[in-house]
Amino acid sequence: MVQLYQPLNFMGLVYREVKQAVIDIDMMSAILGQTPEVSDRPDALPLRVTEGHLRFEDVWFRYDEKREILKGVSFDVPPGKTVAVVGPSGAGKSTLSRLLFRFYEPYRGRITVDGQDIAAVTQASLRDAIGMVPQDTVLFNDTLGYNIRYGRWGASEAEIAEAARLAQIDGFVAGVPDGYAAQVGERGLKLSGGEKQRVAIARTILKAPAILVLDEATSALDTFTEREIQDALDRVSRGRTTVVIAHRLSTVVNADEILVLDKGVIVERGTHDGLLGRRGIYSAMWNQQREAEAAEDLLRGIASV
Ligand code: ATP
Repeated sequence: MVQLYQPLNFMGLVYREVKQAVIDIDMMSAILGQTPEVSDRPDALPLRVTEGHLRFEDVWFRYDEKREILKGVSFDVPPGKTVAVVGPSGAGKSTLSRLLFRFYEPYRGRITVDGQDIAAVTQASLRDAIGMVPQDTVLFNDTLGYNIRYGRWGASEAEIAEAARLAQIDGFVAGVPDGYAAQVGERGLKLSGGEKQRVAIARTILKAPAILVLDEATSALDTFTEREIQDALDRVSRGRTTVVIAHRLSTVVNADEILVLDKGVIVERGTHDGLLGRRGIYSAMWNQQREAEAAEDLLRGIASV
């Protein structure tokens, strides 16, 4: 019996691992809105992360022959630092994260993590090393606890509670009947955009990836929720190599470097203060956004009278 049991047990393990890999790829595809096109090279090795040093070196990319999307993009994210990418809609910002996850490959140039070309490593090891907090989090039709534990299956109850606290979703969990055992999704609790994003942050805290990609929500969140999420994101990115795909400039002020991407080219780069001093595209975007926010405040003030 023992002899039979062990192989079955092993098969169970393999099944779970394979299922997990499929879920990961399905989930990432859903998150990034892409179908995986790239497969591992026959001689692919696992990525060995030492410090989490990320580099894009002269990256050129197009989805089809008709249009270049990235034209020679180079930047460096030293270990533990944060680089924010801003720029108009369609500039190619999210494409950078799709290339980093290797859903697509550049046709020229390369992307390296700790000196290893990501084209030469296994996708599973690459995606293990990268955590993503997407704009729109996909939740499983399962419990709240399952959705958080997804970050790391071996996590203990105490670790889950701590991740939830850091992500500031603990108050929400405490307020729902059944707490972590509450069902979410189609036949359960419906979470707001902000709550879902905090579940994603808790997941990422558990995963503790070397490299983090934050795709900021474009959807309007109320100011209080936005601040709470920003605090949680700041906490998860502290000391971790981070790329922020930013839609609001207020969240990039503290980045170590800001890249302004326009039509696939980095047209300006520097710190917030440095870029404001240049009075170029970034400072124009900043002023425009400030005016829009002031107008919104004014409207809100009028509405509340
Ligand atoms: P936003 O701020 O609106 O999210 P973005 O800067 O992130 O924009 P990307 O999503 O990187 O822009 O897209 C860059 C360009 O590539 C866009 O013009 C988009 O239409 C195009 N694009 C994106 N995905 C595909 C695809 N799968 N096939 C062909 N073109 C695509």
